[in-house]
Amino acid sequence: MIPDSSAAVPELDFHQYFARATEQGESLEKQTVTCSACSAVAVVESDVSLSSCPFCGSLLTARAKAGRLVRPGAILPFKINRNRAAELFRSWLSGLWFAPGGLKRNSTTSGAIKGIYLPYWTYDVRVTTWYEGERGEDYQEAGLQAEQGGRGNDTAGGRRVTRTSWHSSGGCVVNTFDDVLVPAGCSLPPEAVAMLEPWDLKSLVPYSDEYMSGFQSEAYQLDMGEGFERARALIERGVRSSVERHIGGQHQRINAMRSQYDDITFKHVLLPVWISAYRYRNRTFRFIVNARTGQVLGERPWSVFRIAIALIGMLLVLLLIAILIKQ
Ligand SMILES: [Zn+2]
Repeated sequence: MIPDSSAAVPELDFHQYFARATEQGESLEKQTVTCSACSAVAVVESDVSLSSCPFCGSLLTARAKAGRLVRPGAILPFKINRNRAAELFRSWLSGLWFAPGGLKRNSTTSGAIKGIYLPYWTYDVRVTTWYEGERGEDYQEAGLQAEQGGRGNDTAGGRRVTRTSWHSSGGCVVNTFDDVLVPAGCSLPPEAVAMLEPWDLKSLVPYSDEYMSGFQSEAYQLDMGEGFERARALIERGVRSSVERHIGGQHQRINAMRSQYDDITFKHVLLPVWISAYRYRNRTFRFIVNARTGQVLGERPWSVFRIAIALIGMLLVLLLIAILIKQ
């Protein structure tokens, strides 16, 4: 039986919980500037002057504003250095087919590569889940009425059908989740952010201002509570599959489920990337390197002109082959 929620510890109001945690936690006074083109919020470190948006390459026209931000709890320091990142950028560029000729010239001048910390939240939590469900076991049955609902297969002795018998099942599973990672910025498209994973979160070190020297960072746009809602979706998916494993059998049905969240801890973490954002014909393209793993991600323009030339060239070759074969 699933215990009534009034009998257990009352379910936390997560929003209230995180609002209180934000209020009571350590915060930092920072200058931030919002890009009018891509709406990224860049933190302006005292030793870095910002003239263009590191995320889209547009000129920054807004003035910096002072604001309070939750102090990061941990950081992954840069491991790939600037020279290596620039080298990766150059080799990515030289490997591009059908890129407009102006791109390579443009990107080396205006698109200097910048070291940036992206904001994330990570959550640890223990989840106890009570459930009621059913376990389905398949069995074979010989019968002439095979057509009725079973999956039949012919054997020498006649038709056999596979049927499923359902047995009720209930229980309790406990899952511990460590470092559920949620991106908290909005400067980069979610697909791009996802492609930067995995991060070696086991190497996180306690935050210190020293790590920021020479680098920039993005301010989080998703607060701690909103981040937890995203984390919860990932956690619930994990809980569901653990309940299905607990039910066992070949098929599972979950009829009711209730989870209790305990020992919630969270951290604001900063993860390092190298970014070169370049504007080409009024569009933004980005080259991003995960500054821990060296994983490279590039958005690139295509040159319609170069593709057309290549296609025409290919057609001419085919035509020539056709003529030669005929002779
Ligand atoms: Zn921007």
